[in-house]
Amino acid sequence: MAKIIDGQRLARALRGGLLARAGAIAEQRGAAPGLAVILVGDDAASAVYVRNKIRACEATGIQSTCLRFPSTVSNDELLATIALLNEDAGIDGILVQLPLPPHIALDQVLEAISVEKDVDGFHLYNVGGLVTGNTIFSPCTPYGVVKLLESENIAIEGQNVVVVGASNIVGKPMALMLMARDATVAICHAKTRDLAQFTILADILVVAAGVPGLIIPQMVKTGAVVIDVGINRLPDGRITGDVDFDGVSAKASCITPVPGGVGPMTVTMLMENTIASAERGLVRDDRSAENLAFQE
Ligand code: NAD
Repeated sequence: MAKIIDGQRLARALRGGLLARAGAIAEQRGAAPGLAVILVGDDAASAVYVRNKIRACEATGIQSTCLRFPSTVSNDELLATIALLNEDAGIDGILVQLPLPPHIALDQVLEAISVEKDVDGFHLYNVGGLVTGNTIFSPCTPYGVVKLLESENIAIEGQNVVVVGASNIVGKPMALMLMARDATVAICHAKTRDLAQFTILADILVVAAGVPGLIIPQMVKTGAVVIDVGINRLPDGRITGDVDFDGVSAKASCITPVPGGVGPMTVTMLMENTIASAERGLVRDDRSAENLAFQE
């Protein structure tokens, strides 16, 4: 039977360290790290995600500010809000909860966020940085997956990795982050012919398709590491991933459950990015103070 990778436990352990770092920041600059969350409309799932993020802020010593807008908000109003938050010294991270209503120009909104505060890692600079290795913030879900693999001492270098799902927020950055760690990566998506011929080769299989039960045991190599990113709500209300957990557990060496695997790590990486942003801000402040002293 596969070892279950407990994302909840790792997230809890990491949050203890984050709380200590946030406390040190608050002591040094007289204010806790700050995260601003912009929530547009009344999508029920978005409201739940935002509530979880705000709770995680409380647990890690981050001051959160939630700015709510009706779904009729204009593009300009959102851009003006982001411009103010960019200038606000008390805000270290800015997050726009997706999806946005269709009349909002998503690219403009994401590009408006200062790259220094782009804790979701969706600004074009941070996306491009995944290719060149210059990213400031890694997107939270793939970053959480990397942390899970590292916590289990699972080698990435030289491994055959198959990522199922090619979205901009999960699949593509996941593939780039694992490629940067010298894995051999294949990306599959809805148009891939015969998915199983790829997945069966994977030493590490990461699944982020949003299709319950997509991965069955016959598609998985014996001893593979299986990371299930999917979050699907079944008609009876239960939450399930993209992997047939019971069947695949009998074949894999390690597997993440849903819930309790990748999900808690995603939120924890958002906290990590926000605190790292505040720490970088302190280093920048120290450097400017040194430069001023030098000029005097
Ligand atoms: P998306 O809909 O933007 O992208 C889905 C991707 O999967 C696409 O590339 C699509 O081509 C591919 N796909 C769909 N059906 C497929 C099939 N039958 N075979 C192979 N590929 C297929 O979704 P997303 O935002 O990337 O999210 C994917 C899943 O991960 C969802 O269930 C989402 O809820 C979940 N998710 C979880 C977390 C987390 O923290 N655990 C974070 C983000 C997303």
